[in-house]
Amino acid sequence: MAADGFDVVVIGAGPAGYVAAIRCAQLGMRVACVDRWLDDTNKPSLGGTCLNVGCIPSKALLETSELLVKATHAGAYGIRAQGVTLDLPAMMQHKEKVVADLTGGVAQLFRAHGIEWVQARGKLLPNRRVEAVEHGGATRILEAQNVILAPGSTPVELGMAPLKADRIVDSAGALAFKKVPPRLGIIGAGVIGLELGSVWQRLGSKVVLLEAQEQFLTMADAQVARDALKHFTAQGLDIRLGARVLGTNITDKGVSVDYEDKNGRQQMTCDQLIVAVGRRPCTEGLFAPETELLLDEWGFVHVDDQCRTNLPAVYAVGDVVRGPMLAHKGMEEGVMAAETIAGQHAEVNYDIIPSVIYTFPEIAWAGKTEEALKASGVEYRAGVFPFAANGRAKALGAAAGFIKILSDARTDRVLGVHMIGPQCAELIALGVMAMEFGASSEDIALTMFAHPSLSETFHEAALSVLGRPLHVARPPRAARAAAKASTEA
Ligand code: NAD
Repeated sequence: MAADGFDVVVIGAGPAGYVAAIRCAQLGMRVACVDRWLDDTNKPSLGGTCLNVGCIPSKALLETSELLVKATHAGAYGIRAQGVTLDLPAMMQHKEKVVADLTGGVAQLFRAHGIEWVQARGKLLPNRRVEAVEHGGATRILEAQNVILAPGSTPVELGMAPLKADRIVDSAGALAFKKVPPRLGIIGAGVIGLELGSVWQRLGSKVVLLEAQEQFLTMADAQVARDALKHFTAQGLDIRLGARVLGTNITDKGVSVDYEDKNGRQQMTCDQLIVAVGRRPCTEGLFAPETELLLDEWGFVHVDDQCRTNLPAVYAVGDVVRGPMLAHKGMEEGVMAAETIAGQHAEVNYDIIPSVIYTFPEIAWAGKTEEALKASGVEYRAGVFPFAANGRAKALGAAAGFIKILSDARTDRVLGVHMIGPQCAELIALGVMAMEFGASSEDIALTMFAHPSLSETFHEAALSVLGRPLHVARPPRAARAAAKASTEA
């Protein structure tokens, strides 16, 4: 190791980068992490998009807006709560405190692990040198035995809906509205569109989502997507499918959006418009051209299964490489890169990555969908169990939705778990663990679950795969079909 250098320099302190830095430090390496993030007050902040303007602040607003809905409807549970009103600045302060606590927590972890936080824009130069341009303009060159690139991603912009402060905004702007927009438009009914749409709809906005695809939530299991559309529509979200945006115009009356659907040209006017049409990898200025770092055809940094780039001892992890743009996927890649550098055998199971949409009801899944199993000709059995037959869900007043388990028709091994309902972000961990451990639906059926708990729905879904759920008078159609298939087998 060069005397003034580092074993590892990480570029980017989002979930993938800061976790990589911590794991490298745990493994005894001397680590620097270069990050350029500045918050609204121009203060450097760790945690990247996730902690500063993504997962964490959006979940704070989702929780508190849900609390408002519950308080407003408390009468249904025998609680008289009068004069329940929204204090938006206080709600935003709570969100900012959550963010400050967590970003400060990462800084503490860096100090505890002896990781040097370099507050600068990092750029990979040839021979694993990293140029760090500090906010004041001073430049440092860091020498590294290994480099981990974790620069994250940035929202995709639409030429026909250019961002305009406080009128047409991206997901970060939509977390900081100063007042509740009476009419809110959203382009894109994906994960961000649905989560932010839910927040503002709960706070009082009339929300219209324009989605280019004809089908709703194509990445989810079709049965879950159908159920979700039903619930969201009933809540008041106006989801317009097959809507192709043609242009936008900002006037005194608001933002007018021209779009086309199967009935021809349409117009919608809103007070504020959120553009939520996906994210793209952040690679601009990340590396000097003479490094010859290879990108793939979609602009992601090209990596192998262990996140090695085409350059020796240079790794890339998180949103800047292939795979879903999810913080937990990036974190696991950060651990894998660190352990690979340390000479250990490390891998990520890309087949079992949990996905969650934090709406109400929550949506979560892992493993294969029925559609994917059918397309690949795998014979499977499905077990579905509704939360309506679960005591805890009833007591919570949240008995919508179901859990579905898909298992191999021949071996009974669980291949996919899909759910919509209360606390599915937590419950999906059961499915992930079952699949990681190679469990069969019978293994789950033979396991004891606490009563009353939401997790019993997972147990009953496994029993349904076997055709013998206990708490439905007449097993759902999928379970009857599964039972028939297993009798015939
Ligand atoms: P997304 O891919 O989930 O959804 C974008 C949606 O916009 C798609 O449905 C797409 O069909 C639609 N779209 C694209 N162009 C359009 C156009 N011109 N007009 C109308 N619709 C259009 O992307 P996102 O919601 O922006 O989220 C970005 C990333 O962040 C995703 O990878 C997502 O997984 C991640 N994320 C995850 C979470 C979570 O884990 N809960 C939360 C937020 C974001």
